[in-house]
Amino acid sequence: MPKFQEATKSVTNTLAAVCTESPIAGRYQVQEKLGRGSFGMVYLVLDKKSRKGEELKVLKEISVGDLQPNDTVQANLEAQLLSKLDHPAIVKFYNSFVEQCSFCIITEYCEGGDLQCRIEEYRRAGWTFAENQAIEWFVQLLLGAQYMHERRILHRDLKSNNIFLKNNLVKIGDFGVSRLLMGSCDLATTFTGTPYYMSPEVLSHQGYDSKSDIWSLACILYEICCLDHAFTGHNFMSVVLKIVDGETPSLPDSYSSELNAVMTSMLEKDPSHRPTATEILKIPYVDQQLQDIKCKFSNITMKDRTITSQKEALQIRNALQRKIHLQTLREQSEVQKMTPRERMRLRKLQSADEKAKKLKQLAEEKYQENHQRMQKLRFRNFQQVGVDVLHECSERNPPRMNQTQPVSARDFRSLGQPEPKGRMISDRLCMSEPADHEIPEDPETAEEFYHEDDFESCSDENLEMRESEEETEFTTLQTYEQDTDVEALIRCMEDVLDGRSLNSSTITPALPQELTALNSTMAKTKMNRMREAAIQKLEADVFQRVYDYLKMARRQNVKEAEVKGHLEKLGAKPSDCFEVDQLLYFEEQLQASAAEAKH
Ligand code: ADP
Ligand code: MG
Repeated sequence: MPKFQEATKSVTNTLAAVCTESPIAGRYQVQEKLGRGSFGMVYLVLDKKSRKGEELKVLKEISVGDLQPNDTVQANLEAQLLSKLDHPAIVKFYNSFVEQCSFCIITEYCEGGDLQCRIEEYRRAGWTFAENQAIEWFVQLLLGAQYMHERRILHRDLKSNNIFLKNNLVKIGDFGVSRLLMGSCDLATTFTGTPYYMSPEVLSHQGYDSKSDIWSLACILYEICCLDHAFTGHNFMSVVLKIVDGETPSLPDSYSSELNAVMTSMLEKDPSHRPTATEILKIPYVDQQLQDIKCKFSNITMKDRTITSQKEALQIRNALQRKIHLQTLREQSEVQKMTPRERMRLRKLQSADEKAKKLKQLAEEKYQENHQRMQKLRFRNFQQVGVDVLHECSERNPPRMNQTQPVSARDFRSLGQPEPKGRMISDRLCMSEPADHEIPEDPETAEEFYHEDDFESCSDENLEMRESEEETEFTTLQTYEQDTDVEALIRCMEDVLDGRSLNSSTITPALPQELTALNSTMAKTKMNRMREAAIQKLEADVFQRVYDYLKMARRQNVKEAEVKGHLEKLGAKPSDCFEVDQLLYFEEQLQASAAEAKH
């Protein structure tokens, strides 16, 4: 065991060292550690060769000690099959490879973290999830499970910390991974870690099938609604006993009886009495929820599409502006050939054109505004037909004579104001230059005069700025395009609602049943981790005393109350001994499986 421990340590260190230097497998640059998984470290990586929008991925480093070439070949084959699967409620499995004696898995990154953390946050804050939210997630989980079960892939380790959140959609992580790592033997299931989600048949070694995943899904639904495990106990064995023999828990009254009925049917002790994912999705209550969620998501995508079209319109507008800008630049180069005087004249003409355009637009707006106001007033005062609407309007809205906005002749008329004297109007609308703005005759002075104005506003700098703005907009657009998860979910829901069956061409061939890739090595790694965790919690000497005592107590079927009392005497909190108990259970299973293999 120590030899193995050392090997594991050195593997982790090597990969960690490699991580900080060059990209792993020539493409994955480590960004940060996400945490410690049951098989090794989990990192957030930047994929340098990824498609746009999928750059961030997760790298799971699985420390497997001395890997046998055959094991990795087998594991890689299975990984290839996993990478072909694609469902919005399943964390995408991209790739796997061996690096520095570590088996690495690359998966989709879910920025929302795992469901266990979200539940914990809610529990701490004293909040609860609304039934709508619970159902929305539950239906997504069912769709994901149905997809995998139809392809004869079991999860074997469904639990809230294997469910991830991305844009508030849930995705099941590690589907098929336990099999990839540990093969399909019963031991693989036994070793999946926490017992809270394990079904009675698994705990009593009656084999694992898709109904065992269904049990675990019910435990997750319970946890979402109650923010606690469906089956709890102060030690491993008491949890096991409750699962195998205890009462079926119910949801609190704040959740509908229909949802509770679905959950309890999934918690039938006899797996053959439990419904399959497909059957659950057909229960009228769930079917109705499915329709509602589909409508909700369709509305979301409609809204998104509107935003996307707005963004696209903005892009088109910018492209047009750029085109105009280029034309201006071209014209500018023509202008450069002119004399300063000619240039100035041209500029003045252009600016006058611009002002005229603005005035026209403003006049139009004012006209419309007044027209509407007039109609409103007419409607309000329909009895006083002869009322001076224009006058009344001016009283309510006294004219601002010193307003800076240019107003056209038509405006003044419609506002009921006397027309201003010629200069003001002509000043604004005049297409020829006013006398006091004469361009100097002297070419040099004219040049200076010319440079003082803002004709140069169409600089290259501006062009660059606009280009970068467009780029940002383009990226925003890309993120909208990534919104395909919701669209894919809508398609899945439509298929289920239409009763469309699985297209046989999409079924992945069943995986060979006798896969034992990395099997016992993985089991040992897992046990090692558990031992380390327990030692860390209890400290080495207490761990050893607890370990020895529990080993004896479990063999002699000592009563729970007595076990609890004795653990306290040994200086350990019974809850801290959970892993020791589980470790003993694992060791027993491993021995039994080794003995079976010999026969
Ligand atoms: P394992 O399944 O190998 O035991 P975990 O699932 O416990 O590993 O992952 C360890 C940490 O990495 C957890 O904090 C988990 O939330 C995080 N993590 C794992 N996979 C992802 C993912 N796809 N997206 C985001 N975080 C992840
Ligand atoms: Mg996990």
